[in-house]
Amino acid sequence: MRLKNVPGSRQAVAESDLVIKQPEQYKGAWAKKIFANENPIRIEVGMGKGKFITTLAGLNPSVNYIGIEKYSSVLIRAVEKAEADPLQNLRFIRMDAEDIEDVFGKGEIDRIYLNFSDPWPKDRHAKRRLTSQRFLARFAHIIKDDSLIEFKTDNRELFEFSLAEAPAAGWEIIASTFDLHNDEELCAGNIMTEYEEKFSALGHPICKYIISLKH
Ligand code: SAM
Repeated sequence: MRLKNVPGSRQAVAESDLVIKQPEQYKGAWAKKIFANENPIRIEVGMGKGKFITTLAGLNPSVNYIGIEKYSSVLIRAVEKAEADPLQNLRFIRMDAEDIEDVFGKGEIDRIYLNFSDPWPKDRHAKRRLTSQRFLARFAHIIKDDSLIEFKTDNRELFEFSLAEAPAAGWEIIASTFDLHNDEELCAGNIMTEYEEKFSALGHPICKYIISLKH
């Protein structure tokens, strides 16, 4: 993905109280220390400008949400929105999800959302895909038993790869579709992401799976 540099975004993100600095220090204690409650924590990994997670947080005040994004130049858009209209249950981390096990404790996370994750089309980059076995193993450490990962993409090749990776990494596919917007059951309550709006407007069908760890 090509990113536009947004001048000042790195500093603005670094200065915002809504972006948690040195997140490793809260490992195992996010609900208590950051949100001052015992509510479940749900994260979006690769949240971009944050429309999806911000909407979810507004709709569900009894769930804590954390948006994770690698680049300040996109994260800044979510931070600006959240500063203008703060939500007690929404925070952000600027980090590479490769280090996610350093930041969250075992079973600390109640649900993981992956939306329109970068496809990394070259075979030699497959390990960077957020739905690869390597990332699913990291997610398995931080997610509660019986909790879910929900993944959406318009990229058919990435989706087929992801459908094969999940069972190989010990996850069970609970539901899947190659055409979310025409699947009444899976689309109920669907919240569109920025990329979902863009690609569905171009006529791309949206794929989705829901997986949970096999016992
Ligand atoms: N989820 C948003 C949406 O659906 O509109 C943004 C999708 S965009 C294609 C993918 C985002 O994931 C980018 O903003 C990228 O910087 C972020 N990303 C990719 N790999 C990441 C990683 N390893 N850790 C954190 N963020 C990552």
